[in-house]
Amino acid sequence: MRTISGVRRWASDLFWAFYPELCPGCGKAAARAKTCFCVRCQSQLLPGDMCFLRENEFTERLWGRIPLESGAALYFFQRRSPLQRALHRLKYHRQAHIGLQLGRLLGGQLKRSPFFRRVEAVVPVPLHPDKQQVRGYNQSALIASGVSEAMGIPAFLGALERRRFSESQTRKRRMERFDNVAEVFVLAQPGAVAGKHILLVDDVLTTGATLEACGRALVSAPDVRLSMATVAIATTRMR
Ligand SMILES: [Zn+2]
Repeated sequence: MRTISGVRRWASDLFWAFYPELCPGCGKAAARAKTCFCVRCQSQLLPGDMCFLRENEFTERLWGRIPLESGAALYFFQRRSPLQRALHRLKYHRQAHIGLQLGRLLGGQLKRSPFFRRVEAVVPVPLHPDKQQVRGYNQSALIASGVSEAMGIPAFLGALERRRFSESQTRKRRMERFDNVAEVFVLAQPGAVAGKHILLVDDVLTTGATLEACGRALVSAPDVRLSMATVAIATTRMR
């Protein structure tokens, strides 16, 4: 059983190594360099165009929760859209190259925005090590690598770590009625981010609880300015 899945994984990795330029939405048509999606899929996406506005749906959602220099999402998330299919392929079908494709697209747009010009380094939202071992990679780290490449700035992929709370901490947080009780984000490389304008990157912004928690960990280092960007922004009802 394990061998068959290993072979399948190997075949899938090999396939994607040779055909990296397919549209992440349909997986069939050729991706256009400028938009990453094919013409048909692109026409079904809802662009956010947020990075060209100082205040937008993204910054509004985080408003009053954590100080942000800038915030933006590339697209509005829609169910059954090519974007949902792309993110699903990235997360559950071992199509890691989609993370880089989407990251380059996001970074390319941010680079043209006056509000993201001073960002100095990219940090991804970390995945719990157990999950990363199962999936083989952290999709946000791949997106962050694409952003870093397109913007010509470094990515600190290990700056944040995700850890489970101890049992007593979990009990305490439950009593305090925190929703997201199980995990905590730790700034593992404070020296790398100190004094810098950091761009925190994730795949989707929903409630903002994860980005807020990661942001808090980042600004615990001295003189950190914080911006955030995601590939998609979803309604808070999504999950
Ligand atoms: Zn397509």
